[in-house]
Amino acid sequence: MRCIFCGNSESKVVDSRYLKDSSIRRRRECLKCGKRFTTYETVESNPMVVTNAENVREPFKIEKLTESIKYATYCVDLARTIEEIVSSIETKLFALQKQEITTHDIVTVALDVLMEVSSMACLVYYTQHTDCSNFDDVRRFLNR
Ligand SMILES: [Zn+2]
Repeated sequence: MRCIFCGNSESKVVDSRYLKDSSIRRRRECLKCGKRFTTYETVESNPMVVTNAENVREPFKIEKLTESIKYATYCVDLARTIEEIVSSIETKLFALQKQEITTHDIVTVALDVLMEVSSMACLVYYTQHTDCSNFDDVRRFLNR
């Protein structure tokens, strides 16, 4: 991505924001002249496909993940923003390098990331997204 001011091709990302249409707006700072400019990224093709427990396939939706993280962190003081949390979950999912992921993959990765954020948020997410119908499950999880 060339700097619009000096043409230098190296820049660093100083801020990323998810937009409603799933594109990403990034503020970049040129490593040469230090000026800032904005880029927009959209996924062109082959978005990840998610297969749920009922074997229904649908495109990975960042909004859906964001909603579930918002819910899980509703009454938790966060040191990181929702966007940062969602973004690191997404990055880890992409790092799996699978075209098709399962809801189980998402839950596993989300729990990993939430564990670093808040065990309370993690527990809320866990009870929301897994079939823990008895207390033993919850206790086993807490003892991880
Ligand atoms: Zn520049």
